[in-house]
Amino acid sequence: MTLISGTTVAEKVLEECRRDIAALAAEGKKPGLAVILVGDDPASRAYVRSKDKKCRDLGLHSVKLELPASTTQEELLAHVETLNRDPAIHGILVQSPPPKHIDEAAIVRAIDPAKDVDGFHPVNVAKLALEDPTGFVPCTPLGCQRLLIEAGISTQGANAVVVGRSMIVGKPMALLLMAKGPGGDATVTIAHSRTRDLAAVTRQADIIIAAIGRPEFLRAEHVKEGAVVIDVGINRVEAPETEKGYKLVGDVAFDEVAAKCSAITPVPGGVGPMTIAMLMANTIKACRLAQA
Ligand code: NAP
Repeated sequence: MTLISGTTVAEKVLEECRRDIAALAAEGKKPGLAVILVGDDPASRAYVRSKDKKCRDLGLHSVKLELPASTTQEELLAHVETLNRDPAIHGILVQSPPPKHIDEAAIVRAIDPAKDVDGFHPVNVAKLALEDPTGFVPCTPLGCQRLLIEAGISTQGANAVVVGRSMIVGKPMALLLMAKGPGGDATVTIAHSRTRDLAAVTRQADIIIAAIGRPEFLRAEHVKEGAVVIDVGINRVEAPETEKGYKLVGDVAFDEVAAKCSAITPVPGGVGPMTIAMLMANTIKACRLAQA
């Protein structure tokens, strides 16, 4: 059984980023990322902090806008507009989830698609479906695809089952796997909460992508011998024996599934580090395209 280390592959992606940043610097250019946080959700705050830190470590221009939970839709739109016009900023993202009174879809639509490094704007969703390389692909599924490629797992002609149909993970993941080319050309099935006999569907899979949001949901009975399993899930579960009182687990029951499959990603240290690495790569791509 191969343990696919997201930490190792993410480091390789970041090394490529460093090279790209140096090449852009030689042309007097510096990619810039702006992350907007509305409210004080602790998990969102931690994500924003780590994105800012990664940018600074790499030498990217990083803007972190921390706005109070009382920020109105109009105020947030005004911030997005300012960043859309700022030539030093190539990527903009609003950390999800915003407070309830914010219409998140409207905010995403207000981001210039050329700066939408999260890949959530309808223009970029369409570009992914059209296999247009000038679009931005959501970072998590892009990271999963890169993990498969780096682990030498052939997707061509494989039966791939994506469990989950969110716009952030499941749907773009399915589009990537069915696209033509490396890391694609798979025969793709998407399963979700209304899927009848999920285990019968997932047992057909050579490759399973689990993006469900339920701790250790996928069990040995869901997986055929020799399958490859990419676990996107990040779930906090109580663990009184730990210092923090909780631990992170995936959407896959790791021990029993690992015993059956040929390759699997761990949680933590699997898809998580890839997401942030791909965000850096997307920001560099946005800078390049802005110059073109
Ligand atoms: P989401 O929007 O809640 O979507 C979950 C999907 O799972 C939905 O399509 C849902 O079906 C499906 N589902 C729920 N229960 C199911 C069941 N019993 N059987 C089959 N399908 C079921 O979640 P998400 O944003 O895609 O995130 C999924 C997981 O990935 C979460 O654990 C999240 O924390 C994690 N995540 C990790 C990263 C990372 O960087 N590693 C990034 C993003 C998300 P319906 O559509 O029918 O409701």
